[in-house]
Amino acid sequence: MTVTGIIYQFYNCTILMDHKFIREDLWVRDGVIENPRKLFFEEHRKADFKIDCHGCYIVPGFIDLQINGGFSVDFSSNKDVEKGLSKVAKGLLEHGVTSFCPTLVTSPPETYKRVLPKLRMRNGSKAGSGILGWHLEGPFISAKKKGAHDEQYILADFKGLKSMQDTFGCIENVKIITLAPEVPNVIEAIPELVNKGIVVSVGHTASHLLKAEEAVNKGASFITHLFNAMLPFHHRDPGVVGLLTSKKTARERKVYYGMITDGIHSHPAALRIAWRSNPKGIVLVTDAIAAMGLGPGVHPLGEQSVTITGFSAHLTGTDVLAGSVATMPHCIKHFHKASGCTKEEAIEAATLHPAQVLGIERTKGTLAYGSDADFVFMDDSFHILRTYIAGEMVFCSGEIPVK
Ligand code: ZN
Repeated sequence: MTVTGIIYQFYNCTILMDHKFIREDLWVRDGVIENPRKLFFEEHRKADFKIDCHGCYIVPGFIDLQINGGFSVDFSSNKDVEKGLSKVAKGLLEHGVTSFCPTLVTSPPETYKRVLPKLRMRNGSKAGSGILGWHLEGPFISAKKKGAHDEQYILADFKGLKSMQDTFGCIENVKIITLAPEVPNVIEAIPELVNKGIVVSVGHTASHLLKAEEAVNKGASFITHLFNAMLPFHHRDPGVVGLLTSKKTARERKVYYGMITDGIHSHPAALRIAWRSNPKGIVLVTDAIAAMGLGPGVHPLGEQSVTITGFSAHLTGTDVLAGSVATMPHCIKHFHKASGCTKEEAIEAATLHPAQVLGIERTKGTLAYGSDADFVFMDDSFHILRTYIAGEMVFCSGEIPVK
């Protein structure tokens, strides 16, 4: 057997392994996390390079399944789509996000046809975070729970892949679609979407629990920003929120739920209720908009405009929340503080769980042996010190010496 590849040993660190922080070194070769015992005992190899981590934590790179833009780019309105995607991908590296699903809110058909084919799914690199595929939020949603979506483009009928092809043009790069189960024919169409490898998420819906459960039984496996843009919890009719405690369905499918844990979109008590009833299902999403990374003021959002004050973003002149301007480390930090979860649980909600939603947890969202060496150095308070993709340093804050 030819043994190739340079071996890197990251030492003086605490790593997240098997759901726990442990004081152990991290070994990387050819962009993959290695089992040191295999390297020593089977291959008789040792490290070619040793990297002192100065006591920091090493956790998997973050995965954001819902992000509409950032750094002044809005994916739906940016003129040069590829350039916009690259700019956001690059900007996310300093926030520890190593993969993401660019997200489009309900848009006119010409926008979909112009924008969707421009995405190239790719692994991350120095040039930017990895792009996993589109998350399309709408247009097959409920006008009653439209949130910041433009009502004139909402479509009230769905014919599965055919509707998607007609509306979107290109569906090859679609990974997640948010649908309202009460839109005619949505329930029936879910299996063919799932068979095509598309994650069906329930959201922007006035659906009652029964209908939402039907969607899950047909293969829906995610809830888009739980609590926001859905019926509020009622003890006799819990709505989509009731899915939190649903028993496993006939298909043994687990339901994950996205939460925008920016401290604005949900009260900490609501976050605790969700997390305590289903701790393994929570997925932190930023739902960030173009103004993420910019300052307070009025900024464009699709064909509308939003006003940013502090960490909140509203449609200009209204009190309608328009998405967040939070970064993933901010969301993790807030989730940890508000829920009382452990640091490990806070990190897994932004790494392992989103990877599980997409079925990529064997390679992403984990530091398990054999997975991609996408990881983050952080301090005790979730502050990002460095980001690595495929074992290569792609961001460095300069706060710990590079040696
Ligand atoms: Zn939304």
